[in-house]
Amino acid sequence: MKKYLLSPPHMSGKEQRYINEAFESNWIAPSGPHLTRFERELAEYHDVEDCVATSSGTSAIHLALRLLDVKQGDTVFCSSFTFIASINPAIYLGATPVFIDSEPLTWGMCPDSLELALKEAKHQNRLPKAIIVVHLYGQSAQIEALLEIATAYGVPIVEDAAESLGAEYNGKKLGTFGEFGIFSFNGNKIITTSGGGALIGKSAVAIEHARFLSSQAKEDKPYYHHKEVGYNYRLSNVLAGIGIAQFAVLDKRIRKKRAIFNLYQHNFQKEEGITFMPEQSFSFGNRWLTTCTTNKSIQDKHLYQLVKQGIEVRRLWKPLHTQPVFKDCSFYKLEKKAVSESLYEHGLCLPSGTMLTITDIDWISGQLRKELLN
Ligand SMILES: *Cc1c(COP(=O)(O)O)cnc(C)c1O
Repeated sequence: MKKYLLSPPHMSGKEQRYINEAFESNWIAPSGPHLTRFERELAEYHDVEDCVATSSGTSAIHLALRLLDVKQGDTVFCSSFTFIASINPAIYLGATPVFIDSEPLTWGMCPDSLELALKEAKHQNRLPKAIIVVHLYGQSAQIEALLEIATAYGVPIVEDAAESLGAEYNGKKLGTFGEFGIFSFNGNKIITTSGGGALIGKSAVAIEHARFLSSQAKEDKPYYHHKEVGYNYRLSNVLAGIGIAQFAVLDKRIRKKRAIFNLYQHNFQKEEGITFMPEQSFSFGNRWLTTCTTNKSIQDKHLYQLVKQGIEVRRLWKPLHTQPVFKDCSFYKLEKKAVSESLYEHGLCLPSGTMLTITDIDWISGQLRKELLN
């Protein structure tokens, strides 16, 4: 049986060549020419001075929060509607998360809820050390509005663009608005190094410091000398080789992802029961995953049925404020019913691999219609 996965890796064919080069030159380490080149290409693409490639998107967030001096007893604000990796590094640093609801236009952090939370935090003299804004499913949050509010309170933003490499807000690449921006090259993301990530930021000095922290904070001396605690978070030169080949086809992958989204949307244009993730005029999404919401709440039995047919569908992110592990954390919302909770009850991610054909998408659409809309 053919399996239609959400977003499987899609090699360009040139990856092996770079891997071989790394082997031939014996740069089998978290340093080397591929790594330097991959970082430079990522920096140029985002029109920033520097970039550090990391072992994962999660480690990039961890480094960003460390650079913002997040520590025991601090709070960090974060979108509730996201993958747990967005906030885990704050926990590693001993901070307490506060979750913020989404708004329906972008599914990203709601600016009004953020303002409410900041106002209250200021009143209690407990402003957060950082705000993690997530750009979901390849689409920009209302980053300018969020930035304006955060700036008014003097709190830096970390953009979690793990899912949104190459996407834009008013023609500017995501990840370049906040103090820091992070990306992920995990196997399921739009391009992959099998596992990896990257960190960019407004300050080249800060990124250089992140690079230092990512290699155990080892001082440049002929003996082992450490003035602070670092991490082993640098990307391998072998994997950076995969990254170079993948990055070269990023724009092609974005075009295909967008075409897949449009095909699904076209297939359901006459159906009232299903709506696709909106794209606002300020946003150019990479459409990492095609996502939709249905009128009726989705039941697990329908999802099991689809998976049995080889169609990997998954609900949208389960809001973090509803996760048992965060049951004691605060959550700010405007609506009586949280937007993130309705998205979770009604929303679905569809198979969006860039190797899908039109025939595949038509067949999947037919099965979805049978299972979800009858
Ligand atoms: C994938 C993902 C991450 C984590 O990236 P890894 O490279 O898997 O560590 C963080 N945030 C979001 C929103 C993600 O989708």
